[in-house]
Amino acid sequence: MHSTGRSAAFWLAHYGGSAIIPLSVASRPLLESGWPGSGGSFLRQRGAITVARESMDLRDALSVETARAPRRLKVTRADLQRAIPGILPGWNFGLDDPTCADIDVAGLHQACLRAFKRDGGALLRLAGLKRAHRGDARWHIDAGTESFTADVIVDAAGAWADDVALKCGVQPLRIRPYRRTIVQLRMGRSGLRDLPLVIDALGRFYFKGEGDNRLWVSPHDETATEPCDAAPDEIDVATAIDHLQSIVDWPIEAVERKWAGLRSFFPSRVPAYGFDPDAPGFFWCAGQGGFGIQTAPAASALAAALLLGEQPPEWIANLDASIYAPRRYG
Ligand SMILES: Cc1cc2nc3c(=O)[nH]c(=O)nc-3n(C[C@H](O)[C@H](O)[C@H](O)COP(=O)(O)OP(=O)(O)OC[C@H]3O[C@@H](n4cnc5c(N)ncnc54)[C@H](O)[C@@H]3O)c2cc1C
Repeated sequence: MHSTGRSAAFWLAHYGGSAIIPLSVASRPLLESGWPGSGGSFLRQRGAITVARESMDLRDALSVETARAPRRLKVTRADLQRAIPGILPGWNFGLDDPTCADIDVAGLHQACLRAFKRDGGALLRLAGLKRAHRGDARWHIDAGTESFTADVIVDAAGAWADDVALKCGVQPLRIRPYRRTIVQLRMGRSGLRDLPLVIDALGRFYFKGEGDNRLWVSPHDETATEPCDAAPDEIDVATAIDHLQSIVDWPIEAVERKWAGLRSFFPSRVPAYGFDPDAPGFFWCAGQGGFGIQTAPAASALAAALLLGEQPPEWIANLDASIYAPRRYG
């Protein structure tokens, strides 16, 4: 049910706002160099174009322009026609971000699991935390078939982060999962593989090529839900198709796949990395929203330094850890 296997798998510098951009930018070289210890890059250059009908529509996209992220260039209708052949009339404005890349999420996840195992970690797949209590300065954990004691619990339970906190007797941080849908379409057109990621400036859709004649399209939905095994709603699939047809003249041959996953946010929309000030030995690592993959190397390095009480490594020295402190935003 986890979100990690359901992402749209891109790295986009300006995504997520001012608390996320520094994490994404710091993470990029590590994703390129095969962190953690795999050797090969997990990124494939794609580029992104934010598209608009009116130049005013680019205002929100431009408002997150920051010195930390690469600058994007304004492009003309002619540039859009070259980058997105078949783009319909009326789409006249755009912002070009050549740094956007696809992430090999499955490869990255496997590399993380291998590193975890190599460093002595044990993964127990069928041992969900049922409840835990603190006694003698240690956690006593009931995980159904197994029980443990531990100095520290790291709550990295995604949409279930509050559920785990409650099971540990810790006050929740009001995480909220939101459903996001992706539809894979077979198109009556080839040459789509190297399309840029195309993002609507008004936040109604994005799509990217997936193979020569396939697209992944998202209606950019954000439907509040309980933590669950999210499934796509037909209306979101139809909305995705409708938006696609409003921007390109490409024929759609079939809906090949559709899925939904959960993007989980705290009310502040800032992830929490750090010990809970009110619960000894309870560490939060949650609320990554729609950016948990592209921020993973920097967020993990920050979390590791905080967990071990060490100075963060040089390459994330300019991150302000206090932004991510649990309960900072109430
Ligand atoms: C459609 C979609 C598109 C996205 N696109 C992107 C993108 O392009 N780029 C990007 O960077 N991010 C993207 N994201 C966001 C990204 O997928 C998430 O931020 C990330 O996967 C969150 O990882 P996580 O480990 O916190 O949560 P998860 O991957 O959900 O993992 C949580 C884990 O906690 C476990 N758990 C829960 N309860 C318990 C318990 N009681 N005991 C033990 N274990 C428990 C679960 O089994 C699960 O394995 C997207 C998300 C979605 C849904």
